[in-house]
Amino acid sequence: MRIELEPGDEPPPRSCPECGAPLRQLQWFVYADGAANAVAYADRCAAPVHDRPRTWITLAFGEWAEGTSGADRFAVCLAWWDGGMALIDEPVRESDLLGIFAPREEALTLDGVEHLWDVADAVATAMVVAL
Ligand SMILES: [Zn+2]
Repeated sequence: MRIELEPGDEPPPRSCPECGAPLRQLQWFVYADGAANAVAYADRCAAPVHDRPRTWITLAFGEWAEGTSGADRFAVCLAWWDGGMALIDEPVRESDLLGIFAPREEALTLDGVEHLWDVADAVATAMVVAL
């Protein structure tokens, strides 16, 4: 599957869920084999209060065509640190637009999750380039 990212607008300011410092935010529209597949956000906090920078990736998969809503989508959240990346149980971003949040165990069983790690890899790579 060919994953392509198109950078989105910079999202409105947000604060780190752990320390309250402003987050560095990036957004992408994700295409899988040319079709709209997900919206991705990367949120990063490099405030000195943390031992290491905190990075989260939110992926909202599902239908994004006109006339669809959050009911047609689901969102997952990944924490990314030196040792790797993992699905987590609490969302860093949550909204009607992004769809129903799926905690880790549920996320692993959802239809459409097969290429979640391909998308996460593409987002992580794009984030390293952008930062
Ligand atoms: Zn922070």
